[in-house]
Amino acid sequence: MEKETKPAAIHNPPILMSEGLVKYILESGVYPRESEPLRELRNATENHPLNFLASSPDAGQLMALLLKLLNPKKTIEVGVFTGYSLLLTALNIPDDGKIIALDPDRNSYEIGLPFIKKAGVEHKIQFLQSPALPVLDKLLKDPANDGSFDFAFVDADKNNYWNYHERLMKLVRIGGIIAYDDTLWGGMVAMAEEEVPEDKREWRKQAIAFNKAIAADSRVELTLASVGDGLTICRRLL
Ligand code: SAH
Repeated sequence: MEKETKPAAIHNPPILMSEGLVKYILESGVYPRESEPLRELRNATENHPLNFLASSPDAGQLMALLLKLLNPKKTIEVGVFTGYSLLLTALNIPDDGKIIALDPDRNSYEIGLPFIKKAGVEHKIQFLQSPALPVLDKLLKDPANDGSFDFAFVDADKNNYWNYHERLMKLVRIGGIIAYDDTLWGGMVAMAEEEVPEDKREWRKQAIAFNKAIAADSRVELTLASVGDGLTICRRLL
């Protein structure tokens, strides 16, 4: 018998489980304020077969506000794709701010690069074509890097979120911010496993384990914001 179609069956369901509400949020307050270079990069990403990977503009808007408040000089990004969050970060840190951007996929980064150049912020970016963990480990070998970053954004392989957290808790200074994207995993963290498409189950499990572990981590204060696909924002306390 054919199964009833539930929101869980939608590819990348919105976490609020209402396409209409998400559309309203984006159209009423996010798209009208989105800067031209970001809009252009987002449009250029639309034809990418993996376009759903890009960070959500509403999560981006919250991150932009955070960046303006923090005014970070040294930042790191894990998971660049075509560069929506990277360009957003570059546009919202000071002119002498820097971003180390890590992704094994250079081709996708190159789709966004013309918009980064056009926005005049390429000088802030050091893109390293590499999985993130070995680079973080290399940075940690030099004690001068300890506590030297002000901000980190993680949006890549979910099975490594805790590994990233342990490393970033050393690299990011006390008072600095570490933000993790997709922590509500399309709302699937709150569904029974059987309701979730099989190819999404592993990351659902990883997200649930990460959310539990970070909620118990007394070294940070945090909020799990229900924007985009869920954005966990941590501030290092210890
Ligand atoms: N923040 C991006 C979206 C990232 S999508 C945006 O705003 O558009 C996830 C990205 O993580 C993909 O580009 C993928 O190539 C990358 N990725 C996968 N494994 C990785 C790893 N081990 N280290 C760093 N990046 C990784």
